[in-house]
Amino acid sequence: MSENIEPKIVADDVVVTMEYTLTVEGEVVDSSEDNDPIEFLQGYGAIIPGLEKEIYGMAVGESKSVNVNPAEGYGEFDSEAIVDMQKSEFPEDIPMKEGVELQMIDEDGEELVAVIVEVGDKTVKLDFNHPLAGKELHFDVKITGLRTPTEEELEHGHVHFEDEEFDEEFDIDEDEDEDENGGNNHHH
Ligand code: ZN
Repeated sequence: MSENIEPKIVADDVVVTMEYTLTVEGEVVDSSEDNDPIEFLQGYGAIIPGLEKEIYGMAVGESKSVNVNPAEGYGEFDSEAIVDMQKSEFPEDIPMKEGVELQMIDEDGEELVAVIVEVGDKTVKLDFNHPLAGKELHFDVKITGLRTPTEEELEHGHVHFEDEEFDEEFDIDEDEDEDENGGNNHHH
């Protein structure tokens, strides 16, 4: 075994462990206090672009507050992502109520989440925007660990976890994934 010198600062190809709190419009919407610190490979778009670029050079123990504009967060709010659908197109067991979240699969097999925003006589308005689209994100982060990735992790462009449950949590924090495999999660 060679003596790997562990990285001292956040840089590309470094596995970062980070505590975070995400505040939107004054409300905490996500925090590693509830989940776990996130662990990810820096430089591969595993976290929000506007946050990823701000943590370069940070050392273990260092904290930072980062404001991320919508374009570098969950995207701008897109009014064309609000669509009307006929009520008759929905299965009967779906409650036609404002605020109800629907999971759908598009033609490419991608999972979409839509929220019912208005219920009419015959139609419902669905909003396909990410709930945080158009919002400014405020992150408070603290770097709690840095390590060299394994060769396999580097090759895959993502971190490998022992704990599957953690993987699930991790996926939720991921931004839209442009990976051809459909995400940064594991396909082994
Ligand atoms: Zn992998």
